[in-house]
Amino acid sequence: MERVHNFNAGPAVLPEEVLREAQADLFNYKGMGLSVMEMSHRSKEYQAIIDETNAAVKRIYGLDENYEVLFLHGGASLQFLMVPMNFATQGKIANYINTGQWSKKAISEAKKAGKPVHVAATSEDRNFSYIPKTWIFSEHPAYLHITTNNTIFGTEWKIDPDVPKSVPLIADMSSNFMSKPIDARKYDLIYAGAQKNVGPAGCAVVILKKSLLEQMNTNLPTMLDYNTHVNNGSMYNTPPTFTIYMIGLVLKWIEDFGGLKMIEQNNIAKAKYIYDAIDASNGFYKGTVDKEDRSLMNITFRLPSEDLENQFISEAKKNGMIGLKGHRDVGGCRASTYNALPLPAAHALSQFMVDFQQKNG
Ligand SMILES: *Cc1c(COP(=O)(O)O)cnc(C)c1O
Repeated sequence: MERVHNFNAGPAVLPEEVLREAQADLFNYKGMGLSVMEMSHRSKEYQAIIDETNAAVKRIYGLDENYEVLFLHGGASLQFLMVPMNFATQGKIANYINTGQWSKKAISEAKKAGKPVHVAATSEDRNFSYIPKTWIFSEHPAYLHITTNNTIFGTEWKIDPDVPKSVPLIADMSSNFMSKPIDARKYDLIYAGAQKNVGPAGCAVVILKKSLLEQMNTNLPTMLDYNTHVNNGSMYNTPPTFTIYMIGLVLKWIEDFGGLKMIEQNNIAKAKYIYDAIDASNGFYKGTVDKEDRSLMNITFRLPSEDLENQFISEAKKNGMIGLKGHRDVGGCRASTYNALPLPAAHALSQFMVDFQQKNG
């Protein structure tokens, strides 16, 4: 059977080469007589896997020994809580830029952790259809938290924002992690659920600057304390071993692809097919966000009616294109075009959009 064109928002498409390699390794990993899933996380073979995955994260983002890479359970959602618990220290205020549902959840967890929160900017006034270009810090900011790609609303930060040196910059990059070159050294902490761009579900990748650990809360519950995981190389408890192995394969695929510059070019080409179809449709398809803030990863659009949207989604499915339904909170359509989505899939969708409009426009 042919594989479908998979526009799922997450868990999402993985590179075919990675799936084939995992398949070949699954029964008997490199002649060891067992699979990665069945290995002790304390074995030297597994240590080599996690060490290489860790090193690849740093290599791809150009980071040195001043950074730690962690692989943690609980997805990005647990990071919403761990960040304020660890870094919103006494007398300081956690600053957030609110660009949609995921930012709101991050803010909500900071409040639940009992921390004072300041919303430094928000795009809620226009239903999160843009990225704020200015923001106002509170007094004594503990950090600034941003969501670099808004998976549900379809906006993306095009810059790595400048903040004063005294304010740590923290970013939820779940849905555009490793999708383009960034100035990673501007960030003090980056986190991302693996299941959008770098692997299957089950793991958050966290990159943190070691200096951030010098200014954090103490006496935290063991599993919620970043120091626990730093001091134990992400192996305080059993890590999500198979997911980390898969992330390693995806990162190798990114490097073989030519690194983030090439990945970005491919992502731009894919998104262009689909945005061009929207822009050439004379309003049949309506993009839902400001053009300058359009995401390369999650392309959101509406059709003239909900009936047409449902018809579009079901006919696309019959044509081998799945995952085009918008998030349940916002409706409409969404095409997620993560790294591993092949260029021909985006082309096929743009063709389908033109055909569908001709028949129904
Ligand atoms: C998917 C997503 C999350 C949630 O990730 P989990 O790993 O499911 O907790 C958080 N933030 C953003 C931007 C996302 O896209």
